[in-house]
Amino acid sequence: MIEVIDLKKVFDNGFEALKSVDFTIEKGDLVCLLGPSGCGKSTILNLIAGLLSPSAGDIRFAGSSVVKTEPKDRNIGFVFQNYALYPHMTVLENIMFPLTVGQKKIPKEEAKITAEKFMKLTNIEELYDKKPGTLSGGQQQRVAITRALVQNPEVLLLDEPLSNLDARLRLRIREEIRRLVKEVGITTIFVTHDQEEALSISDKIILLNEGVIQQNDDPQNLYLEP
Ligand code: ADP
Ligand code: ADP
Repeated sequence: MIEVIDLKKVFDNGFEALKSVDFTIEKGDLVCLLGPSGCGKSTILNLIAGLLSPSAGDIRFAGSSVVKTEPKDRNIGFVFQNYALYPHMTVLENIMFPLTVGQKKIPKEEAKITAEKFMKLTNIEELYDKKPGTLSGGQQQRVAITRALVQNPEVLLLDEPLSNLDARLRLRIREEIRRLVKEVGITTIFVTHDQEEALSISDKIILLNEGVIQQNDDPQNLYLEP
């Protein structure tokens, strides 16, 4: 479903953040990119989303190269580490927003129905008229995921989605994320530096270090340094 082929990224300052990265992700899998801070995880997500362009290599969705397409044409849902919600909009407006702009925009009434359907799925219907600033971290997280899912993307990208939550909430939300993405059936790439988090929710784990993939396996087969 997603193929990453000999992907390289050298930043303008000459830093080689990704050396030669290859992996394939099956449709519907929840895959974790695991590795220490600075190993290149966000760079991979940004390349897949089209927010960065590769120095070499290819990225294919269902067999077609996407490296020359704009982010908006890639059919990606991206949940940023800081959620990036629009502070002046209500929860409902935040979630409707991606449906009401761009080429694929739909009428407001229709967008509202879709938004409400997904808000039910993520259990945030009661927050519809709240502003993001008044929500807890876990609630903002759910809003960000809901806003990513309403667009019916092929791929959901989650950059350290649990890092801003307290320990108890982290446990709960990670179970919720797994249940949700399996229910929706969406191919998901999840970035974390936390081994336990990766082991507990992933179908596959890609272990990255200094821009090189060290292992790519099922959680139970992965060898992890203590
Ligand atoms: P991770 O997400 O694993 O923490 P990143 O992908 O954010 O790592 O970064 C990988 C490496 O590339 C880091 O050493 C980071 O400092 C460097 N890097 C990221 N963006 C840039 C940039 N725009 N210019 C130069 N170096 C960068
Ligand atoms: P993350 O928390 O995902 O690892 P960082 O905090 O490392 O991200 O980076 C935040 C932003 O700064 C990113 O857009 C990244 O591209 C940029 N950046 C990171 N390292 C460098 C660097 N050495 N030089 C220039 N930009 C960088």
